[in-house]
Amino acid sequence: MDTPPTPLDQVRSQIARACKASRRDPADVTLIAVSKTKGADAIEPLLAQGQRVFGENRVQEAQAKWPALKARWPDVELHLIGQLQSNKAEEAVALFDCIHALDRPSLVSALGKAMAKAGRRVPCFVQVNVGEEEQKGGCAIADLPALLEQARAADIPLAGLMCIPPAGIEPAPFFALLAKLAADNNSLGGLTGLSMGMSGDYETAIMLGASHVRVGTALFGERR
Ligand SMILES: *Cc1c(COP(=O)(O)O)cnc(C)c1O
Repeated sequence: MDTPPTPLDQVRSQIARACKASRRDPADVTLIAVSKTKGADAIEPLLAQGQRVFGENRVQEAQAKWPALKARWPDVELHLIGQLQSNKAEEAVALFDCIHALDRPSLVSALGKAMAKAGRRVPCFVQVNVGEEEQKGGCAIADLPALLEQARAADIPLAGLMCIPPAGIEPAPFFALLAKLAADNNSLGGLTGLSMGMSGDYETAIMLGASHVRVGTALFGERR
């Protein structure tokens, strides 16, 4: 008897479908399984199915969960997708393989120092507040060139740009805007990645060029 497809199978086939529709190579899209609030019991089945890239939004929670899992699956790649306080920069650099929410000068200098001290260079996405929402993280569009210059001067390896579009409205224009900002600011290189798309809109994001989609609910179910 055939086993029914798992949520991971379903997300993988949606990704393949979006890649096919936009004539992209699925190898160019990384699925980040967002495991925030989920315990090892929920994460282990995905590891068993071969998923290796995971996202967490809090340093402390990741510190509690991941060292034990990494001991058993050493090839796991851990991404910090949430806001980072400057005073947690050293801990973040020690634990994570990629940071998605570099969004202000104070964090650039904290991460630059932490990477130099640890002798470990962690690629960072610069988060852009594409909807110009007051309450949201991400640098203002107008501040992006200066922030990129500062990150390069601090010797922070750039992975690309990241965004979380405003909730409740069509995200496509914001994904397109992020792609345009990356192209417009890439004369010095390093902005090839686009971290955009979550459970509700990752197919759209892929069609507009996402290199990394951050998917939680569609893989793990609702969070409490
Ligand atoms: C929680 C979170 C996600 C995943 O959201 P889902 O809708 O559950 O897929 C993606 N990106 C960020 C920054 C998040 O905080």
